[in-house]
Amino acid sequence: MDILKNIRETALTHPKRCAVQSREQKLTYEELEEYSNRLAVWIAKNSQDRKRPVIVYGHKNPYMVVCFLACAKAGRSYVPQDICIPVSRVDETVLSVEPELTFVVEGDYQTEIGTEIGKDEIEEIVKQKTNETDVLQPLTKDEVWYIIFTSGSTGTPKGVTITERNLSNFLDWSITLGTSTNAKKGKVFLNQAPFSFDLSVMDLYTCLAVGGTLWCLTKDVQKDYQKLLESLKRSDAAIMVSTPSFADVCLSDPAFAQTALPNLGLFLFCGETLTNRTARRLLERFPSAKVMNTYGPTESTVAVTQVEITPELAAGTSPLPVGRPKPGTTLQICGPDGRVLPEGEKGEIIILGNTVSPGYYQNTLQTEKHFFTYTEEGIPAQGYRTGDKGYLKDGMLYYCGRIDLQIKLHGYRIELEDIENNLLRLPQIEKAAVLPNIKDGRVKSISAYLVCPGMTAPERTYAEMLKESLRTFLPEYMIPKKLIFMDRLPMTGNGKVDRKALGSAVL
Ligand code: AMP
Repeated sequence: MDILKNIRETALTHPKRCAVQSREQKLTYEELEEYSNRLAVWIAKNSQDRKRPVIVYGHKNPYMVVCFLACAKAGRSYVPQDICIPVSRVDETVLSVEPELTFVVEGDYQTEIGTEIGKDEIEEIVKQKTNETDVLQPLTKDEVWYIIFTSGSTGTPKGVTITERNLSNFLDWSITLGTSTNAKKGKVFLNQAPFSFDLSVMDLYTCLAVGGTLWCLTKDVQKDYQKLLESLKRSDAAIMVSTPSFADVCLSDPAFAQTALPNLGLFLFCGETLTNRTARRLLERFPSAKVMNTYGPTESTVAVTQVEITPELAAGTSPLPVGRPKPGTTLQICGPDGRVLPEGEKGEIIILGNTVSPGYYQNTLQTEKHFFTYTEEGIPAQGYRTGDKGYLKDGMLYYCGRIDLQIKLHGYRIELEDIENNLLRLPQIEKAAVLPNIKDGRVKSISAYLVCPGMTAPERTYAEMLKESLRTFLPEYMIPKKLIFMDRLPMTGNGKVDRKALGSAVL
């Protein structure tokens, strides 16, 4: 699919249709098309190096989408950064990317690297007509469309690169997910995830590909039940793309039901375990809606499997399946020695196919560890070792957790070592181990076990002070709920923290 072409066509056929709405800010298809063209020309004329990605900073602002499309039209990759990410962590990303340009659409992020362009300046640029579009050389198939940074075990985020080819292969499939492409045309899609998470790619680009309207649920709306329901009602949305955790938040309001939201007919889930209970409750509240479970990591472009969760499936035994592979994707289950296991046996899920990323941005070590190249009918293709455990039954994939220390908390992907390494940045902490607290198969919170020899205040006060310091490095969702102080951490024979002993000793 040529997403830019689809947007251009909608701009011609339905110029006044709203493309993106967030808070009271809206952009029509005509505006999105013209503004992104003008900004693209400006980018092409004001930056020299096609290889240096552009940072786009803000929170669900329609102008962020203008920046994304402008980058693609000018042949630049972009790195979305939401304002929920602490400045010091954004700084680390900026340092590794060395952007020539940073668009600060919202908030007051400042950087010494490259040029910063604020919202006022962007608005000025996009209002000026230009006929210099011949300076534009859009991204080619194998160039990187976006780089999404996810939690990395070293304590700094790692950037997953997604090419134009990856994205368009994903969109060829996502426009057919759950309902036909025709049935999706012009519909309102709800956006829950910030643009810095890859789940948002599912709603943003699928919506723009079918000429729909993206209705963004901003963070303040998501925090307040009343505002949330009001916004959902006003949206007249037909399709909701979210994590199951977010559906649970919505379901805790009894008014979240078909009577209040008559057009909401399709739920697309990804990112964490969808429980039978959540699926059942949704299908009870929205009897004529479809619930789809999908599975995949950022490294394979959002999702690579799909299955409809019917009332029968939801009523049956857990766990729910996560789906069959999409066209262009093959799944394998491998043992620790790399051998492909037969159906029914549990092992690591390996994803092969045309939406697998070429690797992490400027990180050969991690890329070589997780990605590999193979040939399919003589053509080189990409494979990715997910670190997820699972098994196949009649071609259907079932997910059974992780083989490493990555977790999902309220839909957020977190490497526990990322938190540990950031805790160790605080001079008061000598040793740190972070463990998830699991209930009903889901992580409910995280606890940190710490050795702080010079603790100067009562535990409670000290814990709050440490959490406050940690907030300069980590976003709120990565801050451990409980800090437990110990004289020493249990160790294994080979000198590593004994997580098992820690779990059973303290929990
Ligand atoms: P992210 O890169 O943030 O999309 O996170 C990817 C990880 O989320 C996967 O490697 C899985 O561990 C988990 N995940 C994604 N989809 C599902 C699903 N449908 N059910 C359970 N876990 C999932």
